Amino acid sequence: ANHDQHKIPQATAKRLPLYYRFISNLHNQGKSRVSSKELSEAVKVDSATIRRDFSYFGALGKKGYGYNINYLLSFFREALEQDIFTKVALIGVGNLGTAFLNYNFTKNNNTKIEMAFDAAPEKVGTRVGGVPVYHIDEMEKKIGSDINIAILTVPAQSAQPITDRVVNCGVEGILNFTPARITVPPQIRIHHIDLSIELQSLAYFLKHYPLEEDIT
Ligand code: ATP
Repeated sequence: ANHDQHKIPQATAKRLPLYYRFISNLHNQGKSRVSSKELSEAVKVDSATIRRDFSYFGALGKKGYGYNINYLLSFFREALEQDIFTKVALIGVGNLGTAFLNYNFTKNNNTKIEMAFDAAPEKVGTRVGGVPVYHIDEMEKKIGSDINIAILTVPAQSAQPITDRVVNCGVEGILNFTPARITVPPQIRIHHIDLSIELQSLAYFLKHYPLEEDIT
């Protein structure tokens, strides 16, 4: 199934978790089918995009029937490797890091923040949201070869040196919440989420590209 996934464009792959969550909800409600219109309204993706995405999943909607929920669910489960546990480490237990640990956004699937690291002595040895906080100097020892993803919530100036270290630990992916544009070797996947840029960008769009009143 892995080679099938390689045919899915990245933009489509990014929407997979969104589709998966909605389809799971429908399944839990006992529904067996869903139309692309219904999906479109729920996940806020236009129905043409949904039809194109779903054709990559081998799901061809039928007129007047829609999509088969059981088929989609098993496809999404396999594609998102729900059975393979992804272990996450969070580095930097400041305001943002603490919020993530408490939020526990990974409860629903097989991804879990296993450990956290910080340099501040008063934070080391505590538990935040049930996750143990270790000293950053212990990172190599604690991570071992066990962690797949690192979340970076350290100050920007520490981002690159910390990145170099987590890469050496064998982490495969990095979710970078710092504003630093860090560099990684080509085999490491990195996603940048800069909250202040997102906010600024939304503000800019509101000002310069106001939405039309009755767009359908
Ligand atoms: P706080 O108010 O708790 O300091 P903050 O988010 O405003 O939170 P930042 O300066 O962004 O603070 O630091 C985030 C966290 O990263 C802090 O808990 C800090 O102790 C930690 N930190 C800073 N440098 C490092 C480092 N080199 N390695 C690990 N953790 C670090």
